[in-house]
Amino acid sequence: MKKEKAVVVFSGGQDSTTCLFWAMQQFEEVVAVTFDYNQRHIAEIECAKNITNELGIEHHILDMSLLNQLAPNALTRKDIEVKDGENGELPSTFVPGRNLLFMSFAGVLASQVGAKHIVTGVCETDFSGYPDCRDIFIKSLNVTLNLSMDQQFVIHTPLMWLNKAETWQLADQLNALDFVREKTLTCYNGIIADGCGECPSCVLRKRGLDQYLSSRKEL
Ligand code: ZN
Repeated sequence: MKKEKAVVVFSGGQDSTTCLFWAMQQFEEVVAVTFDYNQRHIAEIECAKNITNELGIEHHILDMSLLNQLAPNALTRKDIEVKDGENGELPSTFVPGRNLLFMSFAGVLASQVGAKHIVTGVCETDFSGYPDCRDIFIKSLNVTLNLSMDQQFVIHTPLMWLNKAETWQLADQLNALDFVREKTLTCYNGIIADGCGECPSCVLRKRGLDQYLSSRKEL
């Protein structure tokens, strides 16, 4: 696949940055796309810009503020608390239709820039329960995108079956562990690198990193 082109759905977080490095290894040409939907923290967009600048990757930022207009949620509004879902409910960070829209627009961009491949860091293993992160949804959308544009897109999900420790391991295999650790933003409180250490996202990230680093020591 080395000669082909890919669009990476890119937020500047741990997962999508790992995917960006993965794509740079797999494809000759890589383009990143970031969706601006009035995230709580403008720092996310800045972080994504800095990373693509540093890596010399063409970066598209698409305005998706309509998503917030339709479905205000804990990622865009300060007055909605970030919390895990209880009693089988989805977490307050779930945005209905988000990946459906993002992946569809990524498909449109891929068609515009002549990319056959679309890469996303969605993952079924992190137990967030987001229905639009499941493998079956991505496979279904792949078919739909191809039918809608008469294209042969291939959606790649390198993290689909990895847990957080394995995602750190993948970053390490791509010689990007320190880069991902120091330059990405996953914290719900908008703090780069190791983050606030307290929000659900930081707890998940740190647990995975500790687990990976201790397994590496044992080898
Ligand atoms: Zn945090």
